[in-house]
Amino acid sequence: MVPNDYPAFLKWLPGNENVVIYKKNEKKACDIIRQSDLIFSLDYSALNRTDLMENELRISKAKKILIDHHLEPMISDFDYYLSTIEISSTSELVFRFIDHCGWIDLVDQEIATALFTGIMTDTGSFSYSCNYPETFTITASLIRTGINPEQIHRLVYDTYSEDRLRLLGYCLSEKMTILTGLSTAYIALSKEELDRFHHQVGDTEGIVIYALSIENIKLAVFLTERKDRIRLSFRSKGNLSVNQIAREHFNGGGHKNAAGGDSFDSLSDTILKLRQILEQYKEDIDRWSV
Ligand code: 5GP
Repeated sequence: MVPNDYPAFLKWLPGNENVVIYKKNEKKACDIIRQSDLIFSLDYSALNRTDLMENELRISKAKKILIDHHLEPMISDFDYYLSTIEISSTSELVFRFIDHCGWIDLVDQEIATALFTGIMTDTGSFSYSCNYPETFTITASLIRTGINPEQIHRLVYDTYSEDRLRLLGYCLSEKMTILTGLSTAYIALSKEELDRFHHQVGDTEGIVIYALSIENIKLAVFLTERKDRIRLSFRSKGNLSVNQIAREHFNGGGHKNAAGGDSFDSLSDTILKLRQILEQYKEDIDRWSV
């Protein structure tokens, strides 16, 4: 079960047909939550991250088990927790959990495909958050079940719609602002611009990473205008904690190098606020090594 719809590039995953989207099928979702004795909360650190589902989860009598790798989990929301940031992904933690329970023989190709996809996407295809050898040992075990990593990579990354690729091109050529003195690049998209490219869930995923790939850029921010808020997506290199910026200034959080948050000002005011906040961090940004 998930609170909201998720990108089409994940809908080929085995078991996709069993996923219940709370926002689209509230009655069925509530029935399932009410009938559950045990709820696993995967890849989020607090119940307030579950949007409309939050209340139903809070009143549920089920035992709740958190399995997650974000900073500063809200452990009081859960009965048990398996949470560490020293790990590539929640998928890797799920594998370790299964292993610890002695159920490793149950990991078939369908489960291995899902776990491999989680590790691959959370590490940017094994380019970050993957400095621990165990990540590769676990990945090797998953591949030994007979899954096809090349095909999985293609299904996730080579299935752009034409609109999505053109939106990426537009962002990079027309919309990227570089703040040289702050080693920062940001891209801001209005709702009108998103509509022009027939924006679908997941279409803007990963664009922020292109901005971060510029030499000497330490911080990248992607801003999108939503119905009731401005969504901010932060990425950083090295020591720079974007979690702190998102948490302190934009009601958000996440990881040290990848975080998100919201602003309830207009898009232009949010950009102004962001630039003012970054000025306050200038000395730190200069000091931060990459
Ligand atoms: P993204 O920029 O891809 O939306 O999110 C980057 C990371 O930050 C993800 O791990 C995501 O779970 C986390 N994140 C995004 N938005 C928020 C937020 O509003 N609050 C918290 N606590 N974490 C967030």
